[in-house]
Amino acid sequence: RSGFIAIIGRPNVGKSTFMNQVIGQKVAIMSDKPQTTRNKIQGVLTKEKAQYVFIDTPGIHKPKHKLGDFMVKSAENTLNEVDLVLFMVDADQGYGAGDQYIMDRLKSVSQPVFLVINKIDQVHPDDLLTVIDQYRTKMNFSEIIPISAKEGHNIERLLEVMADYL
Ligand code: GDP
Ligand code: MG
Repeated sequence: RSGFIAIIGRPNVGKSTFMNQVIGQKVAIMSDKPQTTRNKIQGVLTKEKAQYVFIDTPGIHKPKHKLGDFMVKSAENTLNEVDLVLFMVDADQGYGAGDQYIMDRLKSVSQPVFLVINKIDQVHPDDLLTVIDQYRTKMNFSEIIPISAKEGHNIERLLEVMADYL
């Protein structure tokens, strides 16, 4: 199995930390290799079960200044070209406007979307359940997986479930 994966989420949810956790040093080596004119390969992870090719997706989170429609469309097109979208959120912050902006963009995406709830090392299990409910009542996700990118919790499990979609 092999496939392309986009990781999206508002700033500071832990996307870079996650990439470093799963790819490590290789991120820097791979980051300049263009996949197409639009998309850049951010890193490649090869495991026994699958090969995971992570794609950089600029322009999907809420811009500070209004982005051209082209940029937004371009990001949405990228999401429709990958095999799997990881929508990462912050368990400690919970649902917010930045998340809703991204979920609105995800409406035009037909690929499977995982809700990846990061920073579970920072929240009480009861609060985690509340956060899960905040998101899953707003959108259907193929899978909902809590992790800690920083501590490495549940990362292996996430990779295993991802493999089923590649
Ligand atoms: P990005 O903007 O989505 O790429 O987020 P970063 O990876 O730069 O992370 C933003 C901040 O969150 C940094 O200070 C990270 O150390 C912290 N962070 C990321 N993942 C975790 C996690 O699983 N647990 C905790 N406690 N902090 C995290
Ligand atoms: Mg980052």
